[in-house]
Amino acid sequence: MGSCEGKVVWITGAGSGIGRGCAVRLAHEGADVCVSDVDLEGARETAELVRAEGRKAEVVACNVASHEQVQAAADQCAEALGGLDLVVANAGIGRGGSVLEMSAKDWQDQVDINLTGVFFTVQAAAQRMVRAGSGGRIVCISSLAAENCGAMLWGYSATKAGVRIMVRGWGQELGPHGITVNAVGPGIIDTPLAAGLAGEEGGAIRESVEARLPARRVGTPADVAGVVSFLCGPDGSYVTGDYLIVDGGLRDAGTPGMPSNPDDPRMAELGRAMVAGEQRRVKLQKLIDN
Ligand code: NAD
Repeated sequence: MGSCEGKVVWITGAGSGIGRGCAVRLAHEGADVCVSDVDLEGARETAELVRAEGRKAEVVACNVASHEQVQAAADQCAEALGGLDLVVANAGIGRGGSVLEMSAKDWQDQVDINLTGVFFTVQAAAQRMVRAGSGGRIVCISSLAAENCGAMLWGYSATKAGVRIMVRGWGQELGPHGITVNAVGPGIIDTPLAAGLAGEEGGAIRESVEARLPARRVGTPADVAGVVSFLCGPDGSYVTGDYLIVDGGLRDAGTPGMPSNPDDPRMAELGRAMVAGEQRRVKLQKLIDN
């Protein structure tokens, strides 16, 4: 029997990367999954992967920056799948930029999605869990960036540090209701969001990152999903208000240097990652703004 047998999990941003990894892992552990995202194409693909694990999947369109949409998604999830036991507040974006140039829109989108969106999601889930009276598990995806910061990253770090500290207060408030609330801090995980940092498989960027990492590899969504699954299962029942880093040792391994010499093979790879990232950003920005 899986560790989440008979449970219902709602995962925001489940149409890609870490959210998708969590959906597949928790389905494997026996949970039915509410797959919510602004990207319905990605969400439908994830739902198919959940069904391939033999579990039910419900696809729900939801922009976590909208209080109304988040409340409606929580209701849809509970109605379609018969309750709400576990939540992974995962949806997030990365908007790096210099303090001299960061646009007000990028700042606001990042705060609305990464910080306020996590609050809206946790509030909607906790309200229903408390009403149902059968406890629950809430996992918020923060980042190693909650404690490591640097040039261009400070805005993202601020939102992730906010999540890291909020779970401590929520753990205090929701503990008496049998609900645990924790944050997970991934390092560099191979997803579209981190394409520039993780580099391509076999590429020069990835090689230099992996040479520095004690684990000698970048992380996978499955690495993060394993920790989320622990927090959602019986072995995680006495852990609350915590922040668990999943980074292969990156925190103390220094920041991978970015190439400055145009002949460095990492330059070409970085250029490809930036073009792909820009194309994805344009697509996602339209979905977020609608
Ligand atoms: P990803 O881009 O692959 O997936 C993010 C998903 O969130 C996408 O499907 C996207 O459509 C969705 N999304 C974006 N804005 C949304 C919104 N407003 N409402 C609903 N859905 C929205 O990225 P990922 O790497 O899987 O990131 C997942 C989480 O993990 C994020 O919170 C991210 O900050 C965090 N994280 C990622 C890494 C990494 O290295 N990949 C490291 C630390 C933390």
